[in-house]
Amino acid sequence: MSEDPILIAGGGIAGLTLALTCHQIGVPVRVFESTRALRPLGVGINIQPNAVRELIDLGLGERLPEVGVATKEYGFYTKDGKEIWSEPRGLEAGYAWPQYSVHRGQLQMMLFDAVVERLGPDAVQLGARATGYVNDGGSIRLRLDADGQSTEISGPLLVAADGLHSAIRAQMVPDEGPPIWSRAILWRGATRAKPFRSGASMAIMGTPFLRFVTYPISATDPDTGEALINWIAETTYDPDHEWNREDWNRLADKADFIDSYRDWDPPWIDPLDLIERTEEVFEYPMVDRDPIDSWTDGRVTLMGDAAHIMYPVGSNGASQAIIDARKIGRGFVDHGVNPEAMAAYEDEIRPVAGRLILAGRGAGPDSVVNIVQDRCGGEFEDINDVMPYEERAALADKYKKLAGFDIETLNARPPIIEPGSRVG
Ligand SMILES: Cc1cc2nc3c(=O)[nH]c(=O)nc-3n(C[C@H](O)[C@H](O)[C@H](O)COP(=O)(O)OP(=O)(O)OC[C@H]3O[C@@H](n4cnc5c(N)ncnc54)[C@H](O)[C@@H]3O)c2cc1C
Repeated sequence: MSEDPILIAGGGIAGLTLALTCHQIGVPVRVFESTRALRPLGVGINIQPNAVRELIDLGLGERLPEVGVATKEYGFYTKDGKEIWSEPRGLEAGYAWPQYSVHRGQLQMMLFDAVVERLGPDAVQLGARATGYVNDGGSIRLRLDADGQSTEISGPLLVAADGLHSAIRAQMVPDEGPPIWSRAILWRGATRAKPFRSGASMAIMGTPFLRFVTYPISATDPDTGEALINWIAETTYDPDHEWNREDWNRLADKADFIDSYRDWDPPWIDPLDLIERTEEVFEYPMVDRDPIDSWTDGRVTLMGDAAHIMYPVGSNGASQAIIDARKIGRGFVDHGVNPEAMAAYEDEIRPVAGRLILAGRGAGPDSVVNIVQDRCGGEFEDINDVMPYEERAALADKYKKLAGFDIETLNARPPIIEPGSRVG
């Protein structure tokens, strides 16, 4: 095995999980992250039980409660709070591992701290922006812009984990163009408030065109009874609406959307109050990219959002990034640190990710709301008259199977990386 470190472009959820995985199996690695100083940016994301399992296998289980809360329930409701579908989640549902709703930035910092503790402070080079690559026979050269200087670094393999605007993918797929807008804008924020329903519930409310998604991302403070509550107000516009290019950190003006929620009146949560009390609100256009035919070019492969940016409708983007990292690691265990390992990862994950991207366009598990809207305009006395229980349950199960977290299969399958596995 080559002793030269493999190169990872991007120190987000995907890149840092891959660094920890490589360390676990004895593969040297270096991460190049464009940000000069990592800060806990972003708001809430979900980590599904299949991905929580992998974080636990990386020895991070005890740290998860510090960055989020174990989710107990997941459901769809009308804007008046009437239930369309709800189901238990995580341990409550019978999974052997919990689901976590976490603060994205705190999760990234947790992974970063673990990388620095385990691999040392030089494992992640901050302020190093990947600009391209050169396949060079038996090795690969990563082009970097570090502190305004162009430089190159050589390694046996390169994994591009540089997110939605991946420079590596842009070189690999030069004619692809920008991400594709869905016509929806996600207005995002988090504020402290009393948690609702089970105390750790995720609620998706409203219609296909005007939604409010909310869930706690911290434990409840016993003194105040409050938790950090994440919310996303999703509004859909005409195709000719002028929208701002996707940027996770773009600050928004509440006046652009708050009026849409003034007549909402669910009994167990107050969306308007949450929006009004949130200091910083971010806007993000819901975008994805078409699935592509290949993620690998010689000694470089794509992972995470660089490989498969998808709509966040199944709460699955970060989970898939974590699974990618583990599958790449498994490829190294089975094949060694070489392009065959990347091919094995791509062969297994690319078709699945492509189906998830397309499922997201069809609204994924959220399509239950679209169906109810089509059948009764969202007005009903008894949901069973509109959509029988079995039909709603089948829809929920279908997405879990597609995304690899249906209960029976996940509980029964062996670990992706067996404990004690080493490369070479
Ligand atoms: C600042 C930020 C805030 C986010 N907030 C949310 C949120 O609130 N809700 C949500 O659902 N998702 C959010 N996301 C996206 C979410 O983290 C990802 O969809 C998911 O976790 C997949 O992880 P990833 O590592 O593939 O991508 P990301 O987590 O996006 O990580 C990509 C990393 O690569 C770095 N990078 C980018 N370009 C280069 C380059 N050329 N060279 C080197 N490094 C590069 C980025 O700085 C980042 O650290 C956010 C992403 C970022 C970067």
